[in-house]
Amino acid sequence: MARTLYGKLVAALFALVATISLIYVALTVTTTRLYLQEVNQKLNQTLAAGIVAETPLLQGGSVDQAAFEGLFHSLMVINPSIELYLIDPEGAILSYNAPPGRVRRGRVSLAPIRAFIDGTEEFPIRGDDPRDPQGRKVFSAAELREGDRLAGYLYVVLGGEAFDSVARMIQDSYILRLAVGVGLASLALALIAGLVSFNWLTRRLRRLSAAVEAFKQGEFQAAMSLGPWRRGPRGDEIDELGITVERMSQRIVEQIRQLRHADATRRELIANISHELRTPLTSLQGYLETLMIKEGELSEAERRHYLDLAAKHGQRLNQLIAELFELAMLESQGRELHFEPFSLAELVQDVAQKFELEAEKHGLTLETEIPAGAPFVSGDIALIERVLENLIENAIKYTPKGGRIRLSLVPGPGCIAARVSDTGVGIPADEIPHIFERFYRVEKSRGEGPEGTGLGLAIARRILELHGSSIAVESKPGDGTSFSFELPTAA
Ligand code: ADP
Repeated sequence: MARTLYGKLVAALFALVATISLIYVALTVTTTRLYLQEVNQKLNQTLAAGIVAETPLLQGGSVDQAAFEGLFHSLMVINPSIELYLIDPEGAILSYNAPPGRVRRGRVSLAPIRAFIDGTEEFPIRGDDPRDPQGRKVFSAAELREGDRLAGYLYVVLGGEAFDSVARMIQDSYILRLAVGVGLASLALALIAGLVSFNWLTRRLRRLSAAVEAFKQGEFQAAMSLGPWRRGPRGDEIDELGITVERMSQRIVEQIRQLRHADATRRELIANISHELRTPLTSLQGYLETLMIKEGELSEAERRHYLDLAAKHGQRLNQLIAELFELAMLESQGRELHFEPFSLAELVQDVAQKFELEAEKHGLTLETEIPAGAPFVSGDIALIERVLENLIENAIKYTPKGGRIRLSLVPGPGCIAARVSDTGVGIPADEIPHIFERFYRVEKSRGEGPEGTGLGLAIARRILELHGSSIAVESKPGDGTSFSFELPTAA
């Protein structure tokens, strides 16, 4: 309990309430005491002066002991808590009424007495208590005069010894008892209200903490759900926190899922790559071994043939590795993109020119359809060139002799579409969703056809993805295929 937030809040509240209680009691007692003293002194302000006026206490310069005793006795009857002292002008106690041994001081300080008589200080003024070497008490005082001469003072200590202890004081006063009782009761009430409201306020935190714990226990598989949590404008920071944590948990779950998926894909990819690389490597090795084993028996033409085959597989291996590396760079964004405005029309024209001979060699016509004044587009020109090359290479590869290849540009609102279409073999509808996957080749399932790595379209798609675009394909087996993509016009 002490380690929970609620426990700490409760402990803090207890400490606070206890401190306030102490301060409250101390304050009540001190102010009450001071107030009583003030009232006492005010009520008896003229007491000493009255006595002095009524009773001559000095006779021929010395104390009239008989008068003093008489006065003491009559006052004793009226108010037993009063003590009388006669003091000389320097403060020495001349005479008093008390059992012997009770008076412990020989003299008292004159300053408070003068302040009282001259009215220079606010009540309560406390003077030295002759019965206590350290004590001070409220008093009444008056000058004793013989003619013009100051003969001394009558010093009347008020209140006697009562109310010396706080406990006694509270015990003896109904009002004080009531005040302290009511004060403590309201503090207790505040404490209970505090406990209840803290409990209520920390309830959501406990729920949140339990939900997070459950999330952890569940190995982050299922996102946290807080159920009926307060959402919307009336929620406070805890509600906000809850919603944020909930969202975070959803993200964590999603990312873990993605990581697992990425990990599985990576394993599959490595398996794929090893397999794809092994095929040409094995062939290469096979031809080289044949050459070595049959060295003496082979004719020059046969030797040449095996060497050609070995070189072809070597080349294929080289191409595979180069394209794989290119795709990996594009996927990991290991190559920085250089976006710039350029003329797609010019680029298409250049690429078409580059492939003209090649197309001719395959008995194909290559034509372009470029509207005049097509605006510039924005993109990485080298990468877009690569896309066009891959598409044209494919068109040449998969179009039989006598066919046509057409490169066209179609300007649209805010973009230009580039299209590479051919009158080739086409792609079966059920293969179309796969042709952009790495290593996917329709020829593999057909078991015949031109050679390829199965990476060209994957590279093209990735490049367009990096441009925030995509690649579309339409195809009809026997009729031909058309690939197209759009690029935004440069601002
Ligand atoms: P490849 O190196 O095999 O050409 P690609 O990724 O470029 O690899 O293409 C994937 C597959 O898509 C090819 O194997 C081919 O079957 C099919 N393909 C691509 N372009 C065309 C096209 N213009 N006509 C017919 N089939 C195509």
